[in-house]
Amino acid sequence: MIAHIFEDRCDGCNNCVAICPTHVLDAGKDGAPVVARIDQCQTCYMCELYCTSDAIYVDPDQHHLHVVDPQAILESGHLGRLRHDYGWGREAGGDEGHLSDFWRLGPLLREGAEIAARRYAGRKA
Ligand code: SF4
Ligand code: SF4
Repeated sequence: MIAHIFEDRCDGCNNCVAICPTHVLDAGKDGAPVVARIDQCQTCYMCELYCTSDAIYVDPDQHHLHVVDPQAILESGHLGRLRHDYGWGREAGGDEGHLSDFWRLGPLLREGAEIAARRYAGRKA
């Protein structure tokens, strides 16, 4: 789920508000958007991908909202990592190429495979 917006990085472009497919975000009065409907977040990462200021952190847990430590996120190097790995960060000066390792999708894909396996097992029983 979307876990944090770094207001000091946000330029108020509202790309994230427009791109969110489930209307989780509302435009803020003073620039940074507001997380208005967290229960509708589907952890799709679109807001993070489209934030050219790398101001949004989406936590990989799609079921639970975690209280995150903004400083720890900054120090982790996670901010903007997804955009970089997809090759979308070059306009921000990242010219070293993208990794294309989809590193943060791994747990989601694994859970999908586990759900499919459980359904398949249930169908056979
Ligand atoms: S896309 Fe990023 S910079 Fe633009 S409003 Fe959203 S958080 Fe702020
Ligand atoms: S992760 Fe997806 S659903 Fe959640 S706020 Fe961002 S764009 Fe919207």
